[in-house]
Parts: sequence; structure tokens; C-alpha cells
Amino acid sequence: MPNMRAAQISGPGGAIQLVQRPIPEPPDDWVRIQVQACGICHSDSLVKEGHWPGLKYPRVPGHEVVGIVDAVGARVAQWKAGQRVGVGWHGGHCGYCNACRSGDFFGCQVALQITGISFDGGYAEYMIAPAIAVAAVPDELPAVEAAPLMCAGITTYNALRNSNARAGDVVAVLGLGGLGHLGVQYSAKMGFKTVAIARGEEKGPLAHKLGAQYYIDSHEQDPAAELVKLGGAKVILATVTNGNAMSAVQGGLALNGTLLVIGAAESLQISPLLLISGKRLVKGWYSGTAIDSQETLAFSALTGIRSMNEVYPLDRVAEAYDRMMSGKARFRVVLEMNAN
Ligand SMILES: [Zn+2]
Ligand SMILES: [Zn+2]
Repeated sequence: MPNMRAAQISGPGGAIQLVQRPIPEPPDDWVRIQVQACGICHSDSLVKEGHWPGLKYPRVPGHEVVGIVDAVGARVAQWKAGQRVGVGWHGGHCGYCNACRSGDFFGCQVALQITGISFDGGYAEYMIAPAIAVAAVPDELPAVEAAPLMCAGITTYNALRNSNARAGDVVAVLGLGGLGHLGVQYSAKMGFKTVAIARGEEKGPLAHKLGAQYYIDSHEQDPAAELVKLGGAKVILATVTNGNAMSAVQGGLALNGTLLVIGAAESLQISPLLLISGKRLVKGWYSGTAIDSQETLAFSALTGIRSMNEVYPLDRVAEAYDRMMSGKARFRVVLEMNAN
């Protein structure tokens, strides 16, 4: 059997090793994908550092995958070789447990699969994925540009489109990093009066370029007070990982407003009186399933939304990972498989 190059983690806290592995064969309900690009996400550190209970090693990380279907299992009806597809965080579910029967596939209690955690992900030239975890990729989206939309994109897009904000409402996006720079674009293209909040006046021009009508420099201004001047935010999409920064904006929520948390901060302080007096809500959001990914990509193609990326070849995966972890990347880091 021919080999492929893959980047794997051998055990908790281990280095990322570039190895040769046999190209995997897809089981009956799986497809094989020739990977063109794979984004590097902060959640990949769960694999590298061993923070996911029960994770089996060696493991190939990567859940922002875009490529071409290369082979399909015997029972796969919906995909065929040659189609452009993506695979995101949600890697599969049973379909019959109570969570699945309620449509909450992300909460599957029997066979929840996470790409790059339950099975090998996209830091490789080929991967296999359950057919139900696969999304179609529009022709107009290049692989490198589509890859980060499979996690950072879907998370921000899906959180906003399932929020209680309606066209014309004030929506604030807290943070202008990997998630936030996409959140601002989605918010603006969905027709919300978009406010970007970040630290430092130098980020203002970027915020406006991404489509924000307003920019609040939280270093110089009180973001809550500034939001109140705009009538209050129906939704504040909190993309940062700093709980204090999230706490600082809650006073800017409009009546019935939602603090929509997608940044994995350790803790967060909320004023119960603020919640009670304005029927305000604090809510979390995960990413989404394959159809959500597909709709994220379609909306991005339709409206011209793109991730801003730093691109590395697979050979430099360790350096690319470190760059992502440094928090200095502008804004997502993406591996391109045949970039050598
Ligand atoms: Zn991710
Ligand atoms: Zn289930």
C-alpha cells in the first residue's frame, strides 16, 4: 500500500512528528479525502497536550480540512470521487440517541465523534471521515481560504445566525483575532449594525475594512458605555478568551440582549441584577454539523467573506503550530499540503 506524509502526536505533551503512514482505506460509511489544506486551530492543543479524556495516540490532529474525495466506502451514496469537500470539528453521531432524535447531534450520547480527536484529522496528505461529517465546498472558494471557515467560520456564522438579533440590530463583536475577524464580517454581511471591540486604536482601520460601522478601543474607552450610546447591543459575540474582558462589556447589552460566548475563557463574572432587570441572557455556542459548515461556506462564497491566513507547507507543521499558539498570527494559520 502506498504511503503518505502525516503529522502526528505520539502521546500527551509530545512533539508534532512528520511521519510516513499507509494511506487509509475508507470503511463502508466513510470517505477518503485527498487533503489540500487544513487549518490549525487552538483546540488542536487538546490533542498535543493530552487534555481530551480517553484520547488514543498516536493521533493526527486537524479539524479544518478541505480537499477532494478520492475514494468512498461501499455504503456511501451521497459523495463520489472528485467532489470538493470539507470536514470540521463535528465528526459524526449515532442518529438514534435522545439527543440525536432531538436534532442535537453535537450532544450525541452514544457515538459522538470529533475530527482529529476520535479519528485522525487533516494534518496529512489523506484522511478518512464518516460520510455524514462531510460538507460540500463551493468552487469559488480556494482550499486555503475555505479551511479556517470549517471551524472559526462556522462557529461565528452559526452562533450569529441562531441568535436573537435581526437585520438592523446592533451586534458587537468582542475581539479581533482568528474568530473575531470572521465574526465582524459575518455580522456586517448579515445586515447587523456591527460594532467591533478590541484593544488599541491601531485596530480601528482593520475593523472598518472588515465591515464594522463602529470601532471601540477598549483600552481608551469603556466598551459598555459606548454600546449604551448606540442603544445597547442585541448581541455581543464574545470571541476573546479573557473572562475579564467579557465581564467588562455586559453593561452594553440592550434589553433582551444576549452575551453570546464562543471564546473558552476560564471564568466570567456576571451581574444577576443586570440579567434580571433587562431580561438579558448569557449563552454559549459550539460550532455546528456538516450542513452548518456547508451553509457557512456557501454564505462566505456568496458575500465575499474570507479568512485572513498565514500559510505553511506540511513540512513546517511544528513551526506553524507554534505560530498559532503564540497568538501573534494574522489571523489563522493554515497548512497547505502540496505547497512545497
Ligand atoms: Zn477548531
Ligand atoms: Zn446520538
